Amino acid sequence: MDEAGAAAQWRRCSSCKEWIGFKTLYWVCNVSTCNRKRTGLLFCTVRCWDAHLSSMNHRESWAVEKHSPSRSEWQAEQAEQARANSGGKPAERPPPQRRPVRPEPARAPAAASPDSGPSREILVVASRLKSYILARSGMNTSERVLAPLSDILRRVCDEAIENARRSERKTVLDRDIPQGR
Ligand SMILES: [Zn+2]
Ligand SMILES: [Zn+2]
Repeated sequence: MDEAGAAAQWRRCSSCKEWIGFKTLYWVCNVSTCNRKRTGLLFCTVRCWDAHLSSMNHRESWAVEKHSPSRSEWQAEQAEQARANSGGKPAERPPPQRRPVRPEPARAPAAASPDSGPSREILVVASRLKSYILARSGMNTSERVLAPLSDILRRVCDEAIENARRSERKTVLDRDIPQGR
């Protein structure tokens, strides 16, 4: 496929890349997206038009028979286009805005899990508790005692809040803490 063909021939087939001569039959696709000015597809045979279908996924399409221009017509057309490009620029459409790829939304913390969330916050200083138990008994302490102990503290505090409210105070005092537990 020598490039000298460019002078003697018109344009290349979009499928097989063979040159299509001047004043010859060629085919285009009826689908508008295949006929944009810049990317206009053309085919030397209907078979070559057929070949592009595999990648295009057209719903309804057919080959449209065309005649290539004569060389002088083509040259006139090129000159006309060059003039148009140098003078009043044809409205260039800005490149399609690519939507920025959003990172996957961070997964919400498993708030549904009963073991997390503000209502299950640990209220006990783990190291203090562990050293108390160790000093008292020589035993180790599992991390898992912190949650139920915190629940007990919450219940006690809720009662203390109620006691302070009944006394119309805005401060929870030591005497609000229920005794005898
Ligand atoms: Zn072809
Ligand atoms: Zn097409």
